[in-house]
Amino acid sequence: MKHAHIVGCGLAGTLLAWELKKLGVEVSVVDTANPESSSRVAAGMITPITGRRLKPSWRGHELTQIARTTYAEIQQEFGIILWSDWTLKRVFREEIMREWFHDRRDKHEYDPIVVTDIEPGVHDGVTYPFGGFEHGSVATVDIPTLLNTVGQSLAQQKDVGGTVHVPDITITCTGYQTLHDPLWSWLPIEPSKGEILDVRIPGLQLDHILTNGTWILPVGGDHYRIGATHDWDDHEPSPTEAGRIKLLADAQQLVGREIVVLGQRAAIRPSTKFKRPFVGRHPTNPTQAVFTGLGTKGALQGPWAAQQLARHLVYEEPLDPDIDIIKWWKS
Ligand SMILES: Cc1cc2nc3c(=O)[nH]c(=O)nc-3n(C[C@H](O)[C@H](O)[C@H](O)COP(=O)(O)OP(=O)(O)OC[C@H]3O[C@@H](n4cnc5c(N)ncnc54)[C@H](O)[C@@H]3O)c2cc1C
Repeated sequence: MKHAHIVGCGLAGTLLAWELKKLGVEVSVVDTANPESSSRVAAGMITPITGRRLKPSWRGHELTQIARTTYAEIQQEFGIILWSDWTLKRVFREEIMREWFHDRRDKHEYDPIVVTDIEPGVHDGVTYPFGGFEHGSVATVDIPTLLNTVGQSLAQQKDVGGTVHVPDITITCTGYQTLHDPLWSWLPIEPSKGEILDVRIPGLQLDHILTNGTWILPVGGDHYRIGATHDWDDHEPSPTEAGRIKLLADAQQLVGREIVVLGQRAAIRPSTKFKRPFVGRHPTNPTQAVFTGLGTKGALQGPWAAQQLARHLVYEEPLDPDIDIIKWWKS
């Protein structure tokens, strides 16, 4: 395969372009440049333990290694910083979470992540009514910088190339909008709206991410980001008062301080019921392929899924069955 054309250049399209170019494929891209796309609004967090039930992320250790390597290669190529390491402190919202945590820890489900118990009480001004725990192996990826840098480079290379070829393959990477594409509407995308706040919290000095389900992420000085909501019914990518009230209430519970809202943003995630990406060629039209379904875990799962698809398209390597779209094809 010589030339791939990518439609949609969010996180999925950008990572795929990177992987294809590494394999020597000429890549062209087109994007509607939506400033409120999921990738532009995302916090870019990679967390190895997720959700109310405090489960280890699916293939967390393996996928984190791949993500770390991929972002490091891009950093090196473009002279930018994308990756930051963090610790995270988690506040239990109810007693049962403490039991789940101890159960999983005692069964070594979190290994090799180092987890440290936090007893119920007040620690550094934060109330832990049922306790909590602290862990490392957390990172953030600066997705807007990734998109701006790699996207710009792809656009420049296209201009310099000058010649227009018919692509060997077109890959749709349009996020949740894949749902409205007749070619791909059979894929079970379940869009989920997410909202975040950009805030100041005067006097708060956090050097870690703090979460009780809603997270507070330091971004410099007394500026923080608070997120994120999850709404599977509202598909309007505009901020809501309900979202702002919920995020503020949860964050207030964590820090008990004045929070000054500077901005609010919303976007629609390309989520899927089984929380796995979708990749592959169209079963009846092999000049078309798709990469979507990154849901809440684009920063973690994106690099691995992009590698899988690139190697499948170029070398015909089989896709991991967990993400191959063929299992959803019913015709
Ligand atoms: C509030 C919020 C917080 C989040 N936080 C995190 C987080 O901490 N960690 C994490 O890993 N993930 C997070 N996510 C999820 C993350 O954003 C997604 O997993 C990922 O960015 C999805 O990337 P994508 O490229 O598939 O989709 P998108 O980002 O939606 O990109 C699709 C692109 O396609 C373009 N497009 C659409 N239709 C067309 C068309 N017809 N022609 C051309 N171009 C088109 C759009 O303009 C867009 O640029 C968060 C999401 C939200 C909303």
